[in-house]
Amino acid sequence: MNPAEEVIRLTQALLRFDTINPPGDESLCMAFLADYLKLQGFEVHLQCFAEKRFNLLARMAGKDKNAVPLAFTGHLDTVPLGNAPWRYNAFGGEIVEGKLYGRGASDMKAAVAAFIVACVQHQQAVRDGDGVILILTGGEETGCDGARALLEDARIVLPPVKALIVGEPTSNYPVIGHKGALWLRCETQGKAAHGAMPELGINAIYMAAEAIAKIRHFKPGAPHPLMKQPTLNVGTISGGLNINSVPDRCSFDVDIRTAPNLEHDEIRQRLAAMAGEHLCMTTLVDLPSVLTEPGDPWIEQVFLLCRPLHDGPLQYRVVPYFTDASLLLDALGSQPCIILGPGEPTMAHQTDEYCVVDKLLQSVDLYGEIINIGG
Ligand SMILES: [Zn+2]
Repeated sequence: MNPAEEVIRLTQALLRFDTINPPGDESLCMAFLADYLKLQGFEVHLQCFAEKRFNLLARMAGKDKNAVPLAFTGHLDTVPLGNAPWRYNAFGGEIVEGKLYGRGASDMKAAVAAFIVACVQHQQAVRDGDGVILILTGGEETGCDGARALLEDARIVLPPVKALIVGEPTSNYPVIGHKGALWLRCETQGKAAHGAMPELGINAIYMAAEAIAKIRHFKPGAPHPLMKQPTLNVGTISGGLNINSVPDRCSFDVDIRTAPNLEHDEIRQRLAAMAGEHLCMTTLVDLPSVLTEPGDPWIEQVFLLCRPLHDGPLQYRVVPYFTDASLLLDALGSQPCIILGPGEPTMAHQTDEYCVVDKLLQSVDLYGEIINIGG
C-alpha cells in the first residue's frame, strides 16, 4: 500500500457518500468502512442507533489482553450544503490545485481516512504494542447524537484507553480542549384570540421577545484563562399560526458555550431566573467542556511531534466548537485528549469545503508517529 495514494483514495470514497445531517444517513458510508476495516484486519462492530443511522467501532488488538489501546475518533456525518451554489461537486472528491473538495472534506472525512491509513500502515507496531480502537460516529453535527447512543447501549463496553485523538479540523495544530455546550429550548405560553381583538388574548411572541431582551446580555460565567469568555446566542425562534391571530405559543433556542470552571445546572438556574417565570425551559444538549492539562506527558510528546509542522513555538490552544470527546472521554477513562486533524478549521461548514492535500498526507505521518509513541 502506498499510504499517500491510499489516503486520497479513501477520503474521496468517503466524500462520495451523502451523509448530510439532518436528515442523516450514515448507512452506506459506514457499511463501506466496515468492509474496508475488516479487510485490513480490524474487528468491527456496527451499531444502528436509528433508521439509517450508524456508529462503527473498530479494534485492532495489541500484544496482550491487558494492553490499554490508543483511541481515535471521528464523525462521518456532515452539515448540509447551504444555500450558495458550489463551484465543485460537493460529493465529487475532485482535487484542484492541491485542494480536495467536498462536503465533509475538512470536517472531517479526511481525518477519518488519515487515521485509518496510519493504523493500517503501522499495524505491526499496533499489534506489537497496545492496540487501537477507532470510534466512528454518526450524528455528531446535531449534538453528538451518535456518541450518546453508543454510550447508552448496554451491549457496548468501551475500554479504558491510553489517550483519545479527535480528528476535527485543526490544520494539524494540536489543540488541548474545547468549550462545553448547553442548548436550551425556551417556550412561552400565551392565550389565543382573534387578531382584531388582541386585548382578549395574551401574546406569546411578546412574552418571548421580552424574555430574549432580558437574557441577551446574560453572562454564563467568568472568563476562563484558556477558553476566554463563555457565550450565549439565541439561534432560532418560532411562534404564531397566522397574521390575524394572537399567538398562544412561541419557542426559541439558546446556545450557551461554557468552560471547565462552570456548572451547567447553575447556569440554567441563573438564566431561568433572569428570563422570568413565564418561560418553560428544556435542555436539548448538555455537553461538558474538554481540557487536558498542559504538561501531561503524552500531550507533551504529541506537541513535540507537531512542532516541526508549524512556525514558531506551539501554544496551548482550545477551540470554541464541541466534539464527541465531550461524551466519550468520561467513558474511556478520562485520559489525555488531543484535537488534531488535517482539515482547515475555517473550511468547516463552508461552501466549497476542501482539505489541503499536503496537510492530509502530513496527518498520516503524524498519526503514525503518535501510534508509535511509547512503543
Ligand atoms: Zn466536526
